[in-house]
Amino acid sequence: MKKVLLSVQNLSASYGPIRALRGVTLEVTEGETLAVVGANGAGKTSLMRAISGILPISSGTANFLGHDISKTPTHQLARLGMLHVPEGRGTLQTLMVKDNLRLAWEIRPCAESFEQALEKVYLRFPRLKERADQWAGNLSGGEQQMLSVARAIINRPQLLLIDEPSMGLSPLITKEVFHALAELRDAGVAILLVEQNVKRALELSHRGMVLTHGEFTLQGSAQDLLVDPRVMASYMGQAA
Ligand code: ATP
Repeated sequence: MKKVLLSVQNLSASYGPIRALRGVTLEVTEGETLAVVGANGAGKTSLMRAISGILPISSGTANFLGHDISKTPTHQLARLGMLHVPEGRGTLQTLMVKDNLRLAWEIRPCAESFEQALEKVYLRFPRLKERADQWAGNLSGGEQQMLSVARAIINRPQLLLIDEPSMGLSPLITKEVFHALAELRDAGVAILLVEQNVKRALELSHRGMVLTHGEFTLQGSAQDLLVDPRVMASYMGQAA
């Protein structure tokens, strides 16, 4: 049996009277990639925010490696190996590209030196090497998403939570970003991904869950969901 990294049980969360999540349950095990897909407003971002401790939970629980997320400070979760890349990029806008990467490395330094880790990242995203001494806030949307994923590569989390990695990106950059996520997956990093691009998300993942109005309505292996007409019918025209 694989170790459970993330366990979410019967979790609900609201924005005032709006119930964004209605008793959702999910688990992510070591090395597993799970895609949560759903239409606009289904609650995907709220799920990520609740799991990472940003959106208060009204009932239910979320645990990472047995630690109650609602009682664990974000920096401690990061040290334990849970990295959240929020929607709209998770970069530190007023820091240079290289310093963004250095901070991600410093949270969880590994046997590799920063310079060695940096070289690998630059091989994957040569554009970031060209932009190394620029402020992250001055990068294009695509470059910022590259930087977010590069921070994940250099941080080597046990679990990466990534929200809409394809949002606002050209098909070419989306492809590059998903390629890098596939490398992380193959290196054994567990990934919880929320995405509107169902085809890309499921192709990357082992399992998938469909979120509709704050509830999971369907789940299964990514392979099965990719050919399930109930999933694809809801997202016609969204495959890139
Ligand atoms: P999208 O793909 O458009 O980002 P989503 O699946 O991520 O959608 P959420 O952003 O989690 O969905 O939204 C879930 C519900 O909560 C929606 O009804 C949305 O209008 C509502 N909501 C989200 N953020 C807020 C907020 N800050 N204040 C009030 N309601 C919100």
